Amino acid sequence: MVLTTQSFEEQLTEKLRSLRGTGVEEASEKDMYYAVASIVQEQLSASWQDTRKHYDKREERQMYYISMEFLIGRLMENNLQNCGLLDTCTTTLKKLGFEPELVYGQEHDAGLGNGGLGRLAACFLDSVASLRYAGHGSGIRYRYGLFEQRIIHGNQVELPDYWLKEEYPWETRRADESLTIHFGGQVIPHKRSDGSLEFSYYDTDEVQAVPYDVPVAGYQNDVVNTLRLWSAELAPENTDILADAEGKYYHHLDHMHSVEQISGFLYPDDSSYEGKELRLKQQYFLVSATIQNIIRDHKTRCTKSLKNMHEKTVIQINDTHPSLAVPELMRLLMDEEGFSWDDAWNITTKTIAYTNHTTLSEALEKWPVSMMENLLPRIFMIINEINERFCLGIYYDKPAFRDLIPRVAVIADDQVHMARLAIVGSFSINGVAKLHTEILKRSEMNDFYRIFPEKFNNKTNGITHRRWLLQVNPGLSSLITDAIGRGWVEQPSKLSTLVRYSNDSPFLDKIADVKKENKKALADLIRKRTGITVNENSIFDVQIKRLHEYKRQLMNIFHVIYLYNELKDNPMMDMTPRTFIFAAKAAPGYYMAKEIIKLIHHVASIVNNDAAVGDRLKVIFLENYNVSLAEKIIPAAELSEQISTASKEASGTGNMKMMMNGALTIGTMDGANIEINDFVGRDNIFIFGLSSEQVHDYYANGGYNAKDMYHADDRIRRILDQLYGGEFGSQEIEFKDIFYNIMYNNDPYFVLKDFDSYIDAHELAESRYRNHRQWQQMSTINIAHSGKFSSDRTIHEYASEIWRLSPVPKA
Ligand SMILES: *Cc1c(COP(=O)(O)O)cnc(C)c1O
Repeated sequence: MVLTTQSFEEQLTEKLRSLRGTGVEEASEKDMYYAVASIVQEQLSASWQDTRKHYDKREERQMYYISMEFLIGRLMENNLQNCGLLDTCTTTLKKLGFEPELVYGQEHDAGLGNGGLGRLAACFLDSVASLRYAGHGSGIRYRYGLFEQRIIHGNQVELPDYWLKEEYPWETRRADESLTIHFGGQVIPHKRSDGSLEFSYYDTDEVQAVPYDVPVAGYQNDVVNTLRLWSAELAPENTDILADAEGKYYHHLDHMHSVEQISGFLYPDDSSYEGKELRLKQQYFLVSATIQNIIRDHKTRCTKSLKNMHEKTVIQINDTHPSLAVPELMRLLMDEEGFSWDDAWNITTKTIAYTNHTTLSEALEKWPVSMMENLLPRIFMIINEINERFCLGIYYDKPAFRDLIPRVAVIADDQVHMARLAIVGSFSINGVAKLHTEILKRSEMNDFYRIFPEKFNNKTNGITHRRWLLQVNPGLSSLITDAIGRGWVEQPSKLSTLVRYSNDSPFLDKIADVKKENKKALADLIRKRTGITVNENSIFDVQIKRLHEYKRQLMNIFHVIYLYNELKDNPMMDMTPRTFIFAAKAAPGYYMAKEIIKLIHHVASIVNNDAAVGDRLKVIFLENYNVSLAEKIIPAAELSEQISTASKEASGTGNMKMMMNGALTIGTMDGANIEINDFVGRDNIFIFGLSSEQVHDYYANGGYNAKDMYHADDRIRRILDQLYGGEFGSQEIEFKDIFYNIMYNNDPYFVLKDFDSYIDAHELAESRYRNHRQWQQMSTINIAHSGKFSSDRTIHEYASEIWRLSPVPKA
């Protein structure tokens, strides 16, 4: 149903009256936000029901994407765009005297993820629906999302993110579809009449998993899939117990509190692992609810029998966090549905596929056997059996691999190795960029690759161009459409026709104008948030991502110090002005990351207030990095800093977002940077630093000495000395731990080793920037090749090579 501007306005007036008890004149932006959201939700809900009925009728094969994180950000503009109402709504709001951006900005970001992994899950859902695939997300409805970051005197302070304080208009509670999850208790085996074993559970703690559904609308195609977020509640029968005995009431409240904790908050650690019991509870809660739900769905959509489950269902697990899907599906098939081990194993290993996201050793999930056994006794029994059968299978059937057994066993050193469980229990294991998959095959998972070569494959990550170009950069989007037509919106690979415009002066002028406008808007935001006025003609040099030593924000700020030193030594130096923009959250317990945030602020306070520097150099740190902030920074970015130590960044997706918005990458040969380089060519990217092979070689054989770098390079020595005792230290702040980590831990991320080539790459970038025409050409070539990094490409690959799904024809 298409709404005209007039009927949209009428509906808006009506919604304001009925929902908010107000008229247009007195309405606040919040009133307006809820009124618009209600119209959009109504538009979506008809298609939502139709989509579900259509899938049921066709007994459609379904994909379920299980993820502990969905970093969705705001949905208003996304949903308006996807139902074709964005222009109508924006026009109407303006006409009624409202600033659309302020109205849409009323929505609190759904920050149910840490960073790249969670944002990938959100981009994937958008592409799945837009490409007409029958696929859904399953996650946790954390009451507190990723913490809100404030900076106080240069230090990060974390505040709880209570994003549900005001009603979330996109969710629908479906209490009637709640499921029960069991923890702890005893498992008792009984013999069935045929001699096989049956298991019953006693004294378990029961938790209700209550689903909240969020619609996932495809782009103007009437498909609406579902993101189902589970909330942990006390089972209703347990809440009725009346407190007759003294103390019982308080005990009851305590118990309720501990149950609700399961969906209480998102763990704020990105790419690192902590063996917290509550986290294991969260994982099992999500997995058990999802798999029970899938089985129930199968029975209503297809047949009562689950024999053909693997033909009707495929489950993708996002990293190892949902690996318990393997034993949970086994448990339900055997204990509830009466399958034999072999039949259950056959179904399970044809249903589950696993995506690996990292090779960092600190991120490898390993749960203590004792914790698993206490919390999930039946699941632990099954994992044990999986392990024994797997190890025995190798021993007898693949004797050539016998010596690998200690290194591939699912249970070893009193720990359950989640990645090994995921690999053994799934039919597909994919890495997220070419280099990452090669590293998995060649080294990190080489033992498993030798045993199961056919399971391994690559799916290079992507981002949804509908959000990260069409929605966030309307100026650039209409410029592209004017040049090559609208086809790129449906088929982002068509962006490549833009290459033809890389010598077209009028087009390049317009590219420059759009960037200028976007930079102006970001400069306004910076002024509003920090009070600092930046030079709008400076190079906007951007590094926005989680703070991690391997991502090397430290090298970036060292480079800023280097430039500052150059300017101080040589005040008349001819330098293109630069604005360095940072945004990053550090995990609350990550000391070194917090020190680096403090250093960035300290350098900023000196550089930004030095009259001799003026507006030639500015350092900006925008606090509370999240999806909405990314959406404001990325359209204005000119240089995209993707400078991880080679081999450490599995893919990166920030690199793709900025490329798509015309920024040029300064980066190492790491993650998807390598594929960006392949597409745009060496002349259109600034590559520097050690290769992953060189990094690997240094780790394996030594031969790198950070102290030698310190003594050999005056620029480096000066910076390090300034940190510790020099002008970037002071009575109160000294960055001695950063200094020590480099000097005495031998610079584990090769900041000093790559520094010289990093400076060279920056100098090359600056010289290219001085030739405006050449920069705009390079920028255009980057945009032209960015279509390959649309998550539509990624999802087509998953669908055809892993999920075996085809687009669902229209009803
Ligand atoms: C895209 C995105 C990320 C991932 O950025 P990388 O540079 O790939 O690490 C993290 N957080 C947010 C909010 C994002 O939008």
